[in-house]
Amino acid sequence: MKKIRENTIRVIEKCKEKNIKVAAVTKVFAGDFKIIENIINCGIDILADSRLLNLKKFNTFSVEKMLIRIPMKSEIENVVKYTNISLVSELETIKEINEYANNYNKVYDIILMIDIGDLREGVYFENYDELYFYVKEILKMKNINLRGLGTNFSCFGGVIPTEDKFNTLINIKYKLEKDFNIEIKEISGGSSGTLSLFEKINIPKEINQLRCGASIALGIGLNDMPFDYLHQDTCEFVTEFVEIKNKTFKGVTKKIGICVINIPELKKEYLVPLDKKVKIIDINDDYIVLDITNSENRLNLNDPVKFNLSYGGLLFMMNSPYIKKHYIE
Ligand SMILES: *Cc1c(COP(=O)(O)O)cnc(C)c1O
Repeated sequence: MKKIRENTIRVIEKCKEKNIKVAAVTKVFAGDFKIIENIINCGIDILADSRLLNLKKFNTFSVEKMLIRIPMKSEIENVVKYTNISLVSELETIKEINEYANNYNKVYDIILMIDIGDLREGVYFENYDELYFYVKEILKMKNINLRGLGTNFSCFGGVIPTEDKFNTLINIKYKLEKDFNIEIKEISGGSSGTLSLFEKINIPKEINQLRCGASIALGIGLNDMPFDYLHQDTCEFVTEFVEIKNKTFKGVTKKIGICVINIPELKKEYLVPLDKKVKIIDINDDYIVLDITNSENRLNLNDPVKFNLSYGGLLFMMNSPYIKKHYIE
């Protein structure tokens, strides 16, 4: 908990230096109340999640809640009920939100997504006419507030944030502001990946919001690269040896340790053994098979075996009801 809190505080500080507000992305924690409470207490005022059910669970936290994937038409009523902000990209959806917001007597904030080449959600950046039409319609809606523009990086298209890409987004902001005589207050400029580039490129001053998840959870950013000012070892997966034996495979004798996992579909790349001399040989639905030949620790049957987690690993563990969670202050 302390490490996650320190990560949150440092991410907030780093962003504050550039006048950027942090929306804490919590999807990797699968709605875990206690962790989210700790994150909020560090001074977060927007929770962002891609699961509506998680955000519904956070209803009692008095912070803004942002849905960071496009809402489905079938869930708009709950989107309006349980969140304040959504990333959106379709006019039909926005109209629907407007209607429900009207029913609930709310003004609902939207971040209109611009796709600057990543093939994720968003109006394609070259289609200004489409954007123009959208904004024209949005401004007529009484219960919708066009709070900002947003974009995604490093997804399918593998687009890495560059000054050029940011400028594309910012030019769109200024053009819309001029054409409609409005002010677009927020520019949501990506994720922890953007944070990775703070020292490498000039982040334009117009970028004033980031959606940070992996940096807070695991101290990693662009291409899972670690931040030197954040903790990567925030979470551990612990199991125990149920068998330790010398075995010969393809003519080589090795000391093999087997530990229990009891969860299907756990992947090798999810786990990093804390003991650097231990290697994962195989994972199946019941066991992790480890090569412990070179370990300098005296490993005995029933000893705990510890792993750090990759992003995928943490996501997997948090979403698995078979894994018991312990919180260490
Ligand atoms: C997951 C997600 C983020 C956060 O990305 P991290 O790399 O975890 O910081 C930001 N925006 C959207 C739309 C996401 O789905």
